[in-house]
Amino acid sequence: MTALPRLVCASANPHKVAEIALLLDALVDLLPRPDGLPDVVEDAGTLEGNARLKAAAICSATGLAAVSDDTGLFVTALDGEPGVDTAYYAGPSATYAQNRAKLLDALRGVDDRSAYFRTVVMVAYPDGSELVVDGTCNGAIATEERGERGFGFDPLFIPDDGNGRTFSEMSEVEKNALSHRGRAFAALVMALRDRALAEH
Ligand code: IMP
Repeated sequence: MTALPRLVCASANPHKVAEIALLLDALVDLLPRPDGLPDVVEDAGTLEGNARLKAAAICSATGLAAVSDDTGLFVTALDGEPGVDTAYYAGPSATYAQNRAKLLDALRGVDDRSAYFRTVVMVAYPDGSELVVDGTCNGAIATEERGERGFGFDPLFIPDDGNGRTFSEMSEVEKNALSHRGRAFAALVMALRDRALAEH
């Protein structure tokens, strides 16, 4: 039997690590981000660039292949904002709740509530090579928060194909089947398989 690909997770965010662990369960030997590593400044200006900064930093600190992801929420009526700055929408140390409140304010009275999430996933290898994949999820921004689960903008995001529910009203398994991150990590599994086949 071929060994599972071993990847260090570049994220320390417990919500994201739990989702990623579920998505890669039994397909990847996922190691946690070692404690004590400095935070990576995510200032590349694109999702790809930020994902590369995080994966490359953890790869060079550990000497092991590292996997990172970076996500943005792109709202049509806001010309694609908050986009790459989604985490800091309401300010540099904004909470998830403050970010959601700012989005609801920005869309008050706006009819076109369409938006999409995009996730870029990157693996950086010690030899300098990398894998880059992405996943998107189209949907709409609700007019008020609904549901208890998840994190970030989950109580406001209604994915297409989700029977009108927000991500927060879905189980983790249901969210992963539809979500930007679920799709990006499914693409990663295929890319890891192709790389393993090419190596043998
Ligand atoms: P990150 O790049 O994964 O840290 O995502 C940036 C920001 O996007 C987070 O701070 C969240 O506000 C938001 N976000 C990312 N993924 C999700 C998700 O699956 N649901 C809701 N919000 C998300």
